[in-house]
Parts: sequence; structure tokens; C-alpha cells
Amino acid sequence: MDCIFCKIIAGEIPSTKVYEDDLIYAFRDINAQAPEHVLIVPKTHIASANEITAENCAVVAHIFAKIGEIAALVGIKDDGYRIINNCGKNGGQTVMHLHFHLLGGKDLGEKLV
Ligand code: 5GP
Ligand code: ZN
Repeated sequence: MDCIFCKIIAGEIPSTKVYEDDLIYAFRDINAQAPEHVLIVPKTHIASANEITAENCAVVAHIFAKIGEIAALVGIKDDGYRIINNCGKNGGQTVMHLHFHLLGGKDLGEKLV
């Protein structure tokens, strides 16, 4: 499958790892939009939020179970952060492998919602 994040998870494309376990992989975004910008992805290929189902959603819960720990690893847990998922064309998704952006390290300013 020609998926850039599957290749990163497999180690075929280099990345700066922040956290990894059996289910998920977290690494630094190549084009950081904040002082700390981490991408958290399931190791299984799920294309987008639209493809989360009752059968595969445990990994999404696991991502959120670990998000505080991952935030602590990059030093942004206490001051806070923003978690973003872009889905599809109108959401601005550019990589079709489900991922959550973890952004922090400064006051992130204006909120969309
Ligand atoms: P999206 O726009 O789909 O929500 O987010 C995709 C993110 O993946 C972007 O923030 C982009 O900078 C990041 N990205 C794309 N290609 C690579 C890559 O090869 N390595 C890393 N570390 N990040 C990437
Ligand atoms: Zn993939």
C-alpha cells in the first residue's frame, strides 16, 4: 500500500519518534505548526475518521489513553495543548492514514471552535 505513514511506521521512511507501543506510533511533524507538533497514528491503516468503526475503534481510545503521557514526553502536558484531526477534503486532510495532531509549546491563539 502506498501510504507514507505506513512506511514511517515500518521504518522505511525516517521519522523522529516520540512514543511507540504495540498499537500506536507518535512522531514529530516534518512541518511543525507550533513549537511542539507531534502526529499520533494507529499502526493499523485506517484511512480517516470516516473509517473508524465499532471493530477498529479500540485503537482510537488507546491513542487518547496515551495522549497525556505523550504530551508529557514533549513537555507540554502541564501548560496544555490542542488535539486536531483533519478529515477529508473540507477538513484539509492531506495524508490518508488516520492521525491526530498534538500541538503545544505556546499559546495557540485563535480557536476555530
Ligand atoms: P493532515 O494535513 O493530513 O492533517 O496532516 C498531515 C501532516 O503530515 C502534515 O502536518 C505534514 O506536515 C505531515 N507530514 C507529511 N509527510 C510527512 C513525513 O514524511 N514525515 C513527517 N514527520 N510528517 C509528514
Ligand atoms: Zn497507512
